Amino acid sequence: MILFELKCSHGHRFEGWFRNGAAYEAQAAAQAITCPVCGDSGIDKAPMAPRIAKGRPEPAAAAIPGSGGDGAGDKAQQAEILTQLRELRRKVEESADYVGERFAEEARRIHYGETDARAIYGETSSDEAERLRDEGVPVARIPWVPTGN
Ligand SMILES: [Zn+2]
Repeated sequence: MILFELKCSHGHRFEGWFRNGAAYEAQAAAQAITCPVCGDSGIDKAPMAPRIAKGRPEPAAAAIPGSGGDGAGDKAQQAEILTQLRELRRKVEESADYVGERFAEEARRIHYGETDARAIYGETSSDEAERLRDEGVPVARIPWVPTGN
């Protein structure tokens, strides 16, 4: 399919989809294309404005310092990061109370002094984590790596 910007002899501009350029030519020659505004069949192609696809920018991937280089180095680095994340998980599990889905609620109670200050961990949605941050509650998102092997 091809999109042409068209104009009638009265200068109305409109768009039309055609199977291909030849299909447009045939329909235009047969006066089968009419202006949606005035019904005029004296249609011509309007100069096309460049169409720029406005895609959403992709979220940028987090840059890992020192990444790049040969594949073997990357693999070693990934393993190192994984080890660090497992260690982090172990420390969190040791030192913090697991509050599960009550995480946001508990984080607020601690922040507002309604319960004993302590380290907690649990699950929350990214929207909720965002709201907590807006309220000034210090929360961190930890990539929760599986501890297996
Ligand atoms: Zn017209």
